[in-house]
Amino acid sequence: MALIIQKYGGTSVADAVRVKEVAKRVLKYKNEGHDVIVVVSAPAGTTDSLIRRAYELSETPSKRELDMLLTSGEQISIASLAIAIEDLGKKAVSLNAFQVDFKTTDEHTKATILDINTDIIREKLSEGNVVVFAGFQGITENNEITTLGRGGSDTTAVALGAALKADEVEIYTDVDGVYTADPRVVKNPKKLNTISYQEMLEMAASGAKVLHPRAVEIAARYGIKIHLRSSFDDSTGTIVKEKGDESMEQVKIIGITSTKNEGKITLSGVPDKPGIAAKVFSKLAKAKINTDIILQSSSVTKEFNNISYTVSIDDLKEAVEISQELKEELGAEGVSYDANIAKISAIGIGLKTHYETTAEIFDTLAENGINIDMISCSEINVSCIIKEEDVNKAVRALHEKFIEEN
Ligand code: ASP
Ligand code: MG
Repeated sequence: MALIIQKYGGTSVADAVRVKEVAKRVLKYKNEGHDVIVVVSAPAGTTDSLIRRAYELSETPSKRELDMLLTSGEQISIASLAIAIEDLGKKAVSLNAFQVDFKTTDEHTKATILDINTDIIREKLSEGNVVVFAGFQGITENNEITTLGRGGSDTTAVALGAALKADEVEIYTDVDGVYTADPRVVKNPKKLNTISYQEMLEMAASGAKVLHPRAVEIAARYGIKIHLRSSFDDSTGTIVKEKGDESMEQVKIIGITSTKNEGKITLSGVPDKPGIAAKVFSKLAKAKINTDIILQSSSVTKEFNNISYTVSIDDLKEAVEISQELKEELGAEGVSYDANIAKISAIGIGLKTHYETTAEIFDTLAENGINIDMISCSEINVSCIIKEEDVNKAVRALHEKFIEEN
């Protein structure tokens, strides 16, 4: 008998028909004698429509009330699924974060998990229930309701897996695994049978939407295998684990990703002296704004230089305001920003040993007339900021060169 955690995304619980299918799938495992905990997201589109509602009511809804509103989506799903399982004659119980003391920090709309009390869940399992748990939500020390950030239900599932030492965490979605590139963009994407945590983390952080990056981080820390698979059939999907079979060193690149989800800000004519970058980025950090790529030009005039950085598009407005303040404080020349950028990334553990590949990536972009604005390289990831309009062309060109031709 195993302890299995299954997470179903919004499309899998979109309506009554789909919820009934999930109930049947869950019971297949339960009937084999396993303990099953199911984590669900809000029905497809629900979270988006709740956000729209909030912004119809106010241009600046408070984050506390946003969390209170958004968590209702997941509660629709847990109760629905529990009802569907009971209707099939089996025991189920839906539980929300409050009921199991799923503790998070108090950063509304982007809280991180602190501690999970597993007593109630274990008790309900031992009574023979399928436990249906609300993804995405948490509770602070002061009993305030929080959310873990968009797509956070994956993180809920993996965190439960870690807390309960589950044998497997299955993430069910509308795609049947991790692909070498977005199948809507490239003609011949390949499905990966396995992928390492490190590569999956880079893929997720660089725009592949299949798994939430924080879920992968937790899985890596606790050594939990994630099976990413489709809720529409029984095929094996992609296993995320310590070492992916396809990430052997002779394979240079295992995936090409892209995101239009960032904006770029440039502070120009910044005095070139110690402590300036520290000021800029600590002020952004204080506002809980994460920067992605940072570029500082070496000083043009020996006295001044430019600092550019990218942030999530959701944070752009606030980051521009903060940058305006910084301009005054630092006596900089100006602030400019651009929302029409995209980031493309080539990812693979093989990049560590194939020194020539980085140059080949730039070559391929150049051959296709694509201008590179910013570059960031890590051991296993080469990312470039380009114009948003070039993004699909860039993904196709890199995929063809590094994956289809290999
Ligand atoms: N319902 C939330 C969202 O749409 C959480 C999730 O789906 O994982 O972001
Ligand atoms: Mg989702």
